[in-house]
Amino acid sequence: MREKSRLRNLVRDAFFFAILGCTSTAFSADETSRAELALRVASLEQSELTNLLAQKLQNYVNEIAHKKNRVAMPRTRVTLDLQRKIAYLDLGSDYILEPGTYISATLEEELQQISQGLDWDLGPNPPIHNYEFLFGGKKLLDLFPEEKRLTEEAARAAVSRLGPVVVAAAHGDYYHHGFKDWRPQRSTVNGITEDYLSPIYAAELAYWMGKRSNKTAALPRGPIGGNHGESGRPWNDMATKYRIEQLLPNRPDIWDSLPTSTDNLRNYHEDIRSRPLYANELNAEGLLHLHTNSHDTNPLIRGMRVYHAKGREEQKSLAESVLCSMTEIVHAASGYESFPIASFPHEENHGENRLAKMPSIIVETAYHTNPDDARALLDPAFRTASMKGVEKGYRLFSEGKKCKPFQLSKVIDDPVPLGNFIPVDAHYEGNPEFEATLVTELIECPDDMQCWTAKLPLDKLPSPVRFFIDCGSSPTPREHRMQVKIIDADNVDTGWEPYTVSCPASWDRNVRSAFNERTYVAHSEAP
Ligand SMILES: [Zn+2]
Repeated sequence: MREKSRLRNLVRDAFFFAILGCTSTAFSADETSRAELALRVASLEQSELTNLLAQKLQNYVNEIAHKKNRVAMPRTRVTLDLQRKIAYLDLGSDYILEPGTYISATLEEELQQISQGLDWDLGPNPPIHNYEFLFGGKKLLDLFPEEKRLTEEAARAAVSRLGPVVVAAAHGDYYHHGFKDWRPQRSTVNGITEDYLSPIYAAELAYWMGKRSNKTAALPRGPIGGNHGESGRPWNDMATKYRIEQLLPNRPDIWDSLPTSTDNLRNYHEDIRSRPLYANELNAEGLLHLHTNSHDTNPLIRGMRVYHAKGREEQKSLAESVLCSMTEIVHAASGYESFPIASFPHEENHGENRLAKMPSIIVETAYHTNPDDARALLDPAFRTASMKGVEKGYRLFSEGKKCKPFQLSKVIDDPVPLGNFIPVDAHYEGNPEFEATLVTELIECPDDMQCWTAKLPLDKLPSPVRFFIDCGSSPTPREHRMQVKIIDADNVDTGWEPYTVSCPASWDRNVRSAFNERTYVAHSEAP
């Protein structure tokens, strides 16, 4: 008994060691090892999970402190609320040395690096969904009273929402007061500079917003011709803040919102804030921030994520809808069937969402620091599928519809045949994009028949879709085992659903059981 439990502990410790002992880069990226990791994590007791996260967290914080040449490493602490799937990460009261008056974009990014690292370390389907940072027991906003005031004001405020949907492409060139030069906010990795790729994604999304949602998208970063005067750089490369300065010269509160800051990165921080403040000024009905993601230390981290601000239920619903629709359309695109996508949205403390008065989300389409994700980001097919997903998610949210899987719930033939035609009703669920195609065929073709696969176009038909099967001729009544699926305009399909057609005996036709050749989808009541 004792031996057995010792052995069990040894095995458990070995597992545990395997998780703790690996640096994050030692994990193989393949799906099997990720699934095994998930199993190991799922088997951990609460105290073991706490210890695992505590050790990982301390490592991440040490790395950050080391980079900043800090002598003393902050002491961290982890507490879990497994029911709410939240981990509270206390970084200590001395983590933020001089809080200042606003939350800097770099602090936000630092915290995101930690939470995304931990999320990756727990594998797919993690027991923790969100990470809340504490500083000596205090919440981040409690260290920044002015930020707290603005955040609460934005959460309470009601804008008319009669304005456009603002599609904010991330980053862009800004003036660095330390180096005294103009530069992008992100470095080039795997051939991608996020600052210059995100406007291409924004233009794609704006196109689909116009075509499918019939909505005007406002793009603060252009496209626009010519050069920005002060830097001499193309307008298309410039950060949002400079464009807003040109559009609204009398509103420095939007584009120069930190006028007393002496931080070398003040323009960088102002740029992040300018996007929600601009959307507030436009009374925008929604705000969609388009980013590509990155991780400083672990190039294996990959996949699609969507962020909303904490405590903003409307933002959360929008984030869920967009993530769900992106999953549907990206997974239907050839080559991206198993592209990693988070199964739930994440909440985090981003000024971009926090300061917005309307539903606002951050779409992190994929990691440019991961080679596979970077390849996807540069593929026009992936770009189109992902941005169609954002548009669809936004549209369903704004129409109050729920994103749910496109599938056939039941397929039944009508017991009363209409002459030689059998009516069949395909009941579907979900939100297909039209024009769609209904495909039907016999599961097994009898020897005495010619069989066809019928592909029937159908446009904007609510469920159920009625189609008619031509029974052809047969001396005796017979049953046919058939299958049907619907494929929508984005290649999202329901999967095959079997059904049976009962055909009467029929002598009066010349057609030799050419079963499907006259099969069609009903656009009126009867053939
Ligand atoms: Zn970004």
